Amino acid sequence: MLSFGPKRILSGDLMPIDEVVVTKRIVERFSREFLENLDVDVVIAGAGPSSLTAARYLAKAGRRVVIFERKLSPGGGMWGGGMTFPVIVVQEESKFILEEIGVDLTDEGSGYYTADSIEASAKLIASAIDAGASLYNAMTVEDVMIRDSKLTGVVINWSAVNVAGLHVDPVTVRSKYVIDATGHAAEVCKVVQAKAGKLRTPSGRIEGERSMWAEVGEKMTVKNTVEVFPNLYVTGMACNAVMGAPRMGPIFGGMLLSGKRVAELILKRKK
Ligand SMILES: Cc1cc2nc3c(=O)[nH]c(=O)nc-3n(C[C@H](O)[C@H](O)[C@H](O)COP(=O)(O)OP(=O)(O)OC[C@H]3O[C@@H](n4cnc5c(N)ncnc54)[C@H](O)[C@@H]3O)c2cc1C
Repeated sequence: MLSFGPKRILSGDLMPIDEVVVTKRIVERFSREFLENLDVDVVIAGAGPSSLTAARYLAKAGRRVVIFERKLSPGGGMWGGGMTFPVIVVQEESKFILEEIGVDLTDEGSGYYTADSIEASAKLIASAIDAGASLYNAMTVEDVMIRDSKLTGVVINWSAVNVAGLHVDPVTVRSKYVIDATGHAAEVCKVVQAKAGKLRTPSGRIEGERSMWAEVGEKMTVKNTVEVFPNLYVTGMACNAVMGAPRMGPIFGGMLLSGKRVAELILKRKK
C-alpha cells in the first residue's frame, strides 16, 4: 500500500507515473462523459453570466444541462468587469443570485452593489458545475437541428477547427431545448434566421441591439428573455440583440436575472 505522508511528499518520493496511462485516463473519462451528453434536456450555447446562472438553476432542478463555450475560459465578458477594471456592479433586485453562490458584495449605497469580477466569474462557473451541469470549453455551436419546424439540437465543432479554417465536419447533440447565450452576437438565432426564416420578434427578424442605455437595457434584458423559435430561448445580451433593445455595459444584474428567468420558463415546459 502506498503511503503519502508529509515526509514522503517533501522528499519528492511520489508514485511512479506512466504517460500513456495519463493519456488513457483523459480519453476514457472524456469519452464516457461526452457520450452521456449527446442527448440532453437543455443545451446552452456560450458560457457567460446568464448561461451559467440558467445552468445552475436548471441542473439544480434535475435537468440534464450541457454548455458549449467557444473559448478556453468560460465566463464570457464578466472577467473583465468594466473596461478591464475587475469590478462589476449589480443592483438591489439581482444581488441575491450572487449571494446564493457566496460572492462577496459591497453595498455602495442607493441600491448599487459591487463585486470582484474574477470572484463572481469563478463562482458562477463552479456553482453551475457543482449543481450538475456539464461544461465543455473550446467547442463552438455552429449550426442547429430542426425537425417539424422545431429546434431539436445543435451542431458543434472544436473551436480550433474553426480558427484554423479546417474543412472538418461537425457532430450533433440532441436536446429538448436550446438556449442562445452567445451574447451580443446572438449566433444561434442568426443561424436559425438564416435557415428557418422567421423568429418570434416584432419584425420576424433579428431586430439588432441599440446603443447604451443601462436603465432600459437592464429591464428589457429580463423582459426579452423569451422563446424566439419553437424550443429556442434567448438569455443575457442575446435577448436585447435579438429583440432590439439597448446595451447596458458593466452592470450585470440583468444578465443574472435573465439566466434565472430562462431557467424558470424551461422548467415550466415538459421534462
Ligand atoms: C470576451 C468578452 C469581453 C467583454 N468585455 C466587456 C467589458 O470589458 N466591458 C463591458 O461593459 N462589457 C464587456 N463585454 C460585454 C458584456 O460583458 C456582456 O454584455 C455580458 O457579459 C453579457 O453576458 P451574457 O451572459 O449575455 O454572455 P457573454 O458574457 O457575452 O458571453 C457569451 C459567451 O458565448 C460564447 N460564444 C459566442 N458564440 C458562441 C458559439 N457559437 N458557440 C459557443 N460559444 C459561443 C462567447 O465566447 C462568450 O463566452 C464583453 C463580452 C465578451 C464576450
